[in-house]
Amino acid sequence: MRQRMDRREFMRLAAFGGIVFASGVRAAGYGSPSEAAADDFYFVQLSDTHWGFDGPPNPDTRGTLPKAIAAVNALSEQPDFVVFTGDLTHLTLDAQLRRARMTEFRDIVSKLKVRDVRFLPGEHDASVDRGEAFQEFFGPTQYTFEHKGAHFIVIDNVSDPKGIIGDAQLTWLAADLGKLPKDKPIVVLTHRPLFDLRPEWGWSTGDGARAVELLLPFANVSVFYGHIHQINQHMTGHISHRSAQSLIFPLPPPDAADHKPVPWDVAQPYRGLGWRDIEAAPMKATYEVHEHPVQGG
Ligand SMILES: [Zn+2]
Repeated sequence: MRQRMDRREFMRLAAFGGIVFASGVRAAGYGSPSEAAADDFYFVQLSDTHWGFDGPPNPDTRGTLPKAIAAVNALSEQPDFVVFTGDLTHLTLDAQLRRARMTEFRDIVSKLKVRDVRFLPGEHDASVDRGEAFQEFFGPTQYTFEHKGAHFIVIDNVSDPKGIIGDAQLTWLAADLGKLPKDKPIVVLTHRPLFDLRPEWGWSTGDGARAVELLLPFANVSVFYGHIHQINQHMTGHISHRSAQSLIFPLPPPDAADHKPVPWDVAQPYRGLGWRDIEAAPMKATYEVHEHPVQGG
């Protein structure tokens, strides 16, 4: 928290005082906020927007995502990047309708002020055509990128309709990890949980344990995912796994009797829907998550 306050306070002061003030801070030897901020950053995670879904669990299916986009755009300090962790669109067997939904989704998210936007597929986007349409619109389903010292790995556990990562991708993952020092800060972004949360509901990855095994030798690993439409935290050894809320409807907790969406509550519209920002201090292995509920109106 201190980290974030210092950084935000610094950014706020810098915004008021301008670049001269910021330089003055450094010259005067009050280096800590700016020094601490050097490798720190924050990003925004949105998940499970299910564009094209229509049904009673959300009477504002076409309004919820634009509300979230507007809220991100209203942040006083814009994030370094935004990531959508899958199920951008709702499942359809109609290839043309799938592409129509992806076109609309892409148009809506193009309104984000942030230009650096990353996409992951969910099984709703990719399991019917093994990610073909997704790749046409949003690029590869597995990739890595570096950001301010952190190594991000996007794992695709949805394009295979069996809900697995698959041997080829695990080999790719092992080769990528093989190039990294053991203290490298690693952030994994994926759609399904890599561990068994509720396998009969598809809340697992068939060969997720193999990915976790490859990641365990690294001291500093965090996983952020979606799919389960609620906040959940879980540890496998020293690796944390944290899921995001959805932007379409909440799902019941993993120990519930059934898997049906939580009904819309007219007294508390948008309850359980939200997005998050993640304040990253990768060198300290801290990723502070702040949840933002969707606001009505
Ligand atoms: Zn999903």
